[in-house]
Amino acid sequence: MVTIGFPSNKSKDSFWINSEVHAREWISTAVALYLANQIVSEVGVDPVVDELLRVYDWYVMPVLNPDGYVYTWTTDRLWRKTRSMNMGTTCVGVDGNRNYGYKWGGEGASSDPCSNEYMGPFAFSEPEIHALATFLSRTSNTNFRLFLDLHSYSQLWLYPWSYVAENTPEDDYEQQNQMAKLAVQAIVETHGQTYTYGNSGGVMYPASGMSIDWVYGVLGVVHSYTVELRDLGEYGFLLPEYEITPTCEEAYAAIKRVGQTLLNDKPGI
Ligand SMILES: [Zn+2]
Repeated sequence: MVTIGFPSNKSKDSFWINSEVHAREWISTAVALYLANQIVSEVGVDPVVDELLRVYDWYVMPVLNPDGYVYTWTTDRLWRKTRSMNMGTTCVGVDGNRNYGYKWGGEGASSDPCSNEYMGPFAFSEPEIHALATFLSRTSNTNFRLFLDLHSYSQLWLYPWSYVAENTPEDDYEQQNQMAKLAVQAIVETHGQTYTYGNSGGVMYPASGMSIDWVYGVLGVVHSYTVELRDLGEYGFLLPEYEITPTCEEAYAAIKRVGQTLLNDKPGI
C-alpha cells in the first residue's frame, strides 16, 4: 500500500483506493499506479492536487489479492478469486468481494466453493479482506471520506446498496448519485467514454458481502463506490495495451473531480 499526503500536525481525512481484489481485472492495478504517480507528479504544478494532499491522505492499494494476481500470470489468465484452500473440496478460492461482513451470505453470493462468487466459509475469512477491514476500522486511523473499489469491466460507477436492487429514502442516495454523475461527466470529457452510474444492486444485480456495502453500512463512509473500468465487453478482461493509458487518464480525471468536490464541501477549508 502507498500512502500519499503532506505531513500535518492535525488529524487528516483520508481516501482509500482499492484495486485487484478480482485477479483477472488487471486494468484496476494500472489505474491505481497511474493515480499514485500522477498525484505525486502534479505536486507544485496543479494547485488542486496540492490542496487535495494538504487536506487528505491518499491510501492506494494496487493489488489486494496478490496470490490470485500471480496465478493469472502463471496459470489461468481469467482467475477471479483468492487462492485459499477450501475444506472438503479441490475447488480453490473465495470471491473477495463477497467476503465482507455486511449482509454476508445473502442474494448474489454463493455457498458453493466451486463457484466464482463463493462467499467463503465465514465473513472476513480471507486474510486480504480481513486485513483491509481491520485497517479501515481502526479508530487510530484517520477518517475515511472516500472509498473506491476498482474493477473491470462494464464502464460503471456504482454506489450502495449492492445487496438489494432498490434503495430506500433514508439512504444517502442523492449525495451518492450526484457524486457519481460528476465522476462520469469527468470521464466522458476526457476521451468520450460513456460510463453508466447508479445503485449497484439495481444497475448490475444484487450481490451480498461486497466492499462498498460494508464501508457504507458499517463504517458510515457515504462516498463509497465500485468502479467498473473499460471496456463494454469487446475485449473484457483482456483489455488491449492501447486502451490502458486512456482508461487511466479518464479514471484519474474522475477521481480528481470527486476529490475536488469533497474539498469544496468540506466546512472550514
Ligand atoms: Zn471485479
